[in-house]
Amino acid sequence: MKTRILLIAAILFTAFSTAGNARQKPRITILATGGTIAGAAQGAASASYTPGVISIENIIESVPGIRDLASLDGIQICNISSQNMEPAIWLKLLFTIDSLFTNNLADGVVITHGTDTMEETAYFLNLTVKHSKPVVLTGSMRPSTSLSADGPFNLYNAVALAGSASAAGKGVMVVMNDYIFSADDVTKSNTVNPMAFSSPNLGPLGYMRDGIPVFYRAPLTRHTVNSEFVISRDEHLPQVEIIMSYAFSSNIAIKALIETGVDGIVLAGVGHGNYNRDIAEELEWGYARGVRFVRSSRIISGGVDKAAEEFDAKYPVAGLKSPQKARILLMLAMTQSKRSSEIQRIFDEY
Ligand code: ASP
Repeated sequence: MKTRILLIAAILFTAFSTAGNARQKPRITILATGGTIAGAAQGAASASYTPGVISIENIIESVPGIRDLASLDGIQICNISSQNMEPAIWLKLLFTIDSLFTNNLADGVVITHGTDTMEETAYFLNLTVKHSKPVVLTGSMRPSTSLSADGPFNLYNAVALAGSASAAGKGVMVVMNDYIFSADDVTKSNTVNPMAFSSPNLGPLGYMRDGIPVFYRAPLTRHTVNSEFVISRDEHLPQVEIIMSYAFSSNIAIKALIETGVDGIVLAGVGHGNYNRDIAEELEWGYARGVRFVRSSRIISGGVDKAAEEFDAKYPVAGLKSPQKARILLMLAMTQSKRSSEIQRIFDEY
């Protein structure tokens, strides 16, 4: 009798805890945008391939065990190479995420994305998504048909990260090759290798092991719920371009941009954000016409602070932001103000 009672208790406990697990499985929505993770090649060892041809359903089905991690939904936002990213897709991602979280339809979001501009989409969302639930971007360096495709494990890790409680509140993240990066500082730093991403100033936030995130730092700059940027569905983002400096760079490109009527220009200067006299003259002229400039550097780490070498520290500086991140922050800053002091305040806080 005693044994029977124990047996029934054990069966009930198992049934209860399995139901509990099923309930506890996080709800993750994967927003697919294309890239190499959705790419296919002619041969399994081919370096040439076509990105953005595999659907999200097929990508999910190619990852063994992924459905054990989470209850999954997939939405095909677009299927493009990320070099063809457009503002309309950023806004579609932003408002899809907002609606999933506002209506409590997901506990976390994963975005599959081409690696070329992944850091830019991640940073834009880091500054505009107004939720603390995890948003994780991932992609791959090798197409889905490759001998050692990296997409399936990256996606597995991304779903595991987006479904983990410890990922909440850390801003938008990128997970690639087991490493977890903050959108704030991540950059693509290798053109071909699966270890393609790094965080050159601050290092990764942590890493994934057996589907569990191990964090050793959190971003301290303003992001997501603490961001002041409010973007509307039909937002027309200011036009901001980037001009790189190099030995005897001419003023042709910057002059043309100013004449075209761009709103802002980020200077990817040499060294600590320096540029030559020809460029400096164009800046004076452009500033008087209302164009706003931010000094950053073409150097991968170290950033640009207010200390100036040859010309006055008249223009805001990007801090640790790369030129491509500074461009996004200047676009968002200029939705609020054209005052240089206000633009600098924003660069100091984000
Ligand atoms: N050009 C591709 C893209 O960004 C590269 C990749 O996904 O790795 O879409």
